[in-house]
Amino acid sequence: MIPLVDLKAQHATIRTEIQEAVTRVLDSGRFVLGEEVSAFEGEFAAYTGTGHAVAVASGTSALHLALVEAGIGPGDEVITVAFSFVASVAVIEYAGARPVLVDIEPRSYTIDVDRIEEAIGDRTRAIIPVHLYGQPARMDRILEIARDRGILVIEDAAQAHGAAFGTRPVGGIGHLGCFSFYPTKNLGACGEGGIVVTNDAGRARRLRMLRDWGQQHKGRHELKGFNARLQALQGAILRVKLRHLDAWNDARRRHAGGYNEELQGIGIITPGETPGTRHVYHAYTIRAPQRDRIRQELATAGIGTGVHYPLPIHLNPAYSDLGYRAGDFPEAERAAREVLSLPLYPELSEADRRTVCSAMKRACTA
Ligand SMILES: *Cc1c(COP(=O)(O)O)cnc(C)c1O
Repeated sequence: MIPLVDLKAQHATIRTEIQEAVTRVLDSGRFVLGEEVSAFEGEFAAYTGTGHAVAVASGTSALHLALVEAGIGPGDEVITVAFSFVASVAVIEYAGARPVLVDIEPRSYTIDVDRIEEAIGDRTRAIIPVHLYGQPARMDRILEIARDRGILVIEDAAQAHGAAFGTRPVGGIGHLGCFSFYPTKNLGACGEGGIVVTNDAGRARRLRMLRDWGQQHKGRHELKGFNARLQALQGAILRVKLRHLDAWNDARRRHAGGYNEELQGIGIITPGETPGTRHVYHAYTIRAPQRDRIRQELATAGIGTGVHYPLPIHLNPAYSDLGYRAGDFPEAERAAREVLSLPLYPELSEADRRTVCSAMKRACTA
């Protein structure tokens, strides 16, 4: 069996470091926020080249609180993509605003920057570009469009820790950047976690209040807040893992390069890296019209795969009330029919990768 991801393999390489971190927290008696979380925030801010990082309970909370901090609510519209994890859209409704969707570019799976302007209206307050699969969206163009109209840019970098647009790490390019530490992400906690980064000290201060019931001083609620605090255990574990992130991303990129070479000429489309960006391959996602048959054959060969995502957001029953229909976002809809993620994690062996490639060749030329 070759799984899509293998978290046990990663833990085996850092077991001692993690055990030390866990023991430190258990001995400290401080389980929510605290020094481990503050230290991690400082280290993650430095990693993303931002002034401030505010750790929260999940990537979803990061996006939700970023919108709340920005004062976005009922009557406002927020633009994002039709092809992403559902959280990118759900958080807009959590804040009380209306999601306005835009199609993706077929090559990068990120927001089609030529379609953003037609989605902008009088009520547009923010754009949430998603760096899907670890591929940065075209941030230069997005910032330009937003700047001219006083619109905020909130990056959904949940799949892109360590990715860069030009020389700039993602997350710190827009006004606010949101990351998830769900266990399978490039930087994953042993549980849930997320973080918001920003260069604006005022935003960071309000985010710190929002995640902890709106308090700045205990017992005095300045803002209507939430329980969205990061656990100390996750902070301590994430500090350990952050030290390995660059090496892990390099390994992901090596595997992606290997796949790209070996999977040429079999009638599928391999992922491309937008020139001038650093893709961190949260997923190695190919596309093929015969996706379901390939997936079935790989499963028979004992190879795990994933479909991220089988439905574009607007065609999910829960989001039928957004008012979109089949045909509205042709590239998102085609991607949902054709994408297939192959096994990719830093500890994947080259031998296993070659086994996957052989199985792909058999399935695609059959
Ligand atoms: C994982 C993910 C989220 C949500 O993060 P959680 O930590 O699971 O709440 C948001 N957006 C995208 C694109 C994601 O992949």
